[in-house]
Amino acid sequence: MSIEENLKEIRKNVKDGVTLLAVSKTKPIDSIKQVYELGIRDFGENKVQELMDKEPNLPDDIRWHLIGHLQRNKVKYIVGKVYLIHSLDSIRLLKEIEKHYKAKNLMAQALIQINIGKEESKTGVYVEHLQELINACEECKNVKIKGLMSVIPKGNEEQCRYYFKKLKNIFCDLREKSFKNVKMDVLSMGMTHDYKIAIEEGSNLVRIGEGIFGKRDYSIHVK
Ligand SMILES: *Cc1c(COP(=O)(O)O)cnc(C)c1O
Repeated sequence: MSIEENLKEIRKNVKDGVTLLAVSKTKPIDSIKQVYELGIRDFGENKVQELMDKEPNLPDDIRWHLIGHLQRNKVKYIVGKVYLIHSLDSIRLLKEIEKHYKAKNLMAQALIQINIGKEESKTGVYVEHLQELINACEECKNVKIKGLMSVIPKGNEEQCRYYFKKLKNIFCDLREKSFKNVKMDVLSMGMTHDYKIAIEEGSNLVRIGEGIFGKRDYSIHVK
């Protein structure tokens, strides 16, 4: 199917109030432009370098989301260029973001990434360390937390629901509390294979790559 047909199909399933984030990692500028022209304004990249390479060649009104692991030594490159950081997962990273945004007198918007399945292969904070991270966010002046993000373990529908429900519960619990810098507006969960289930379970931002752009070919990116 073409990008246009893919997008039409996905839009049928993404109801009002749910943000469709097009994950453009490994995809060329031309394909991103095509998706942009079909009305998408939110794009996600997982690597800082790739985002930096693409950003100047695409329209200014794109909202860039950093969805991959953010190394502390790369924070300086993204200041002022990224609409939302989805991958805040440690106090050390938080402090680095705070430092660089403060230096430029800008405000960072971030989601806390939770490693809900406690998988060693994945990044994200464990639930038992979440409160500590939130406490540190409350000390910040140049970082605002907008919600939560997670990449759930691979599994069948029932297992996906289980993790999405867990995340939704954490999201709702935090939303009941009152913080200075921490708001629960965005619940970023669901990808090509499970976004419909994620939306049913309360996601309001789905991150879709292959479902829009087609399969990714990593071989051409090996350097
Ligand atoms: C690649 C990626 C996606 C999109 O995955 P698809 O299966 O192509 O939809 C979503 N979230 C993160 C964090 C990713 O790295």
